[in-house]
Amino acid sequence: MFEEILPDLYRIEIPLPRSPLKALNSYLIKGDKRFLLIDTGLNRAECKSVMLSDLEILNVDLKKTDFFITHMHADHLALAAVLTNDKSRVYFNRKEAAMVSSEMPWQEAYAFFLTNGFPEHELKKSLEGHPGYKYGLKRHLDFYILHEGDPIEIGDYCFRCIETPGHSPGHMCLYEANKKILVCGDHILYDITPNITHWIGMKNPLKEYLTNLEKVYSLDVDLVLPGHRRFWTNHKSRIRELQEHHQARLGEILSALEDGEKTAYDIAPYVSWDIDYSSWELFPASQKWFAVGETIAHLEYLEEEMKVQRRTRGDKTIFSSK
Ligand SMILES: [Zn+2]
Repeated sequence: MFEEILPDLYRIEIPLPRSPLKALNSYLIKGDKRFLLIDTGLNRAECKSVMLSDLEILNVDLKKTDFFITHMHADHLALAAVLTNDKSRVYFNRKEAAMVSSEMPWQEAYAFFLTNGFPEHELKKSLEGHPGYKYGLKRHLDFYILHEGDPIEIGDYCFRCIETPGHSPGHMCLYEANKKILVCGDHILYDITPNITHWIGMKNPLKEYLTNLEKVYSLDVDLVLPGHRRFWTNHKSRIRELQEHHQARLGEILSALEDGEKTAYDIAPYVSWDIDYSSWELFPASQKWFAVGETIAHLEYLEEEMKVQRRTRGDKTIFSSK
């Protein structure tokens, strides 16, 4: 399914089966000589078939197509490996290019979650159901690295890169200043909130995320093109809501520690998640991975604010309020 949003700018909806995100927005821009595809989909048949059939209807020649990937998450990046060829440029950020080029540290993440209180039987299920693990990038890609302020010109559009780490270590948005368009990947989402999680090598992802929300707040934007769900207009009020959302979540985590120290896994049920399950026990194992990761990111933030203390007890990491 696709729609033309502005002249030569299309939204292609790529289904994400069994994901609460439901679908990914891939944006196509038609230029005079080349096409640009922003974000792609998972490396799975359901994504590939929709993408290929829509590109065919839209008369897009993949031999003349370049790609911009907002961030390394598999639902944005992985299908690029199927769509690209030796003529394509794949624009990406340096930090994540290095991360996806090396072996993904699933074992390291697994061990980290175990120390944070995840029961092993559940963690196993959780990893096996992780979309990045199942449908991730399956071959090496050569990236064309872009930095803050670098331009991408295509047809009538002139985008500039804006570095917005937080949701992922090297997340990048594109801003079109003349047309006031912000392509924001998963930096700003509407009716769902971007997952902010623990990252190996990132000290305080939530702080970076909040800082980079403020960074894009000041931009003059008429049209927001997010990575999931429908595009929207008022990015400023959404940014304020997202900031309040994380403040509320920090409060919930501090209250969870009022009756004593806990692992991140034991704190997670105290947080009100925006997912349709009435209790923590009913959460699918794969979603607990995201929930515990997000809890840890908030704990890291509180730790830097000196409101929470971390200790190691036996083989577990325990948090308490200060
Ligand atoms: Zn993402």
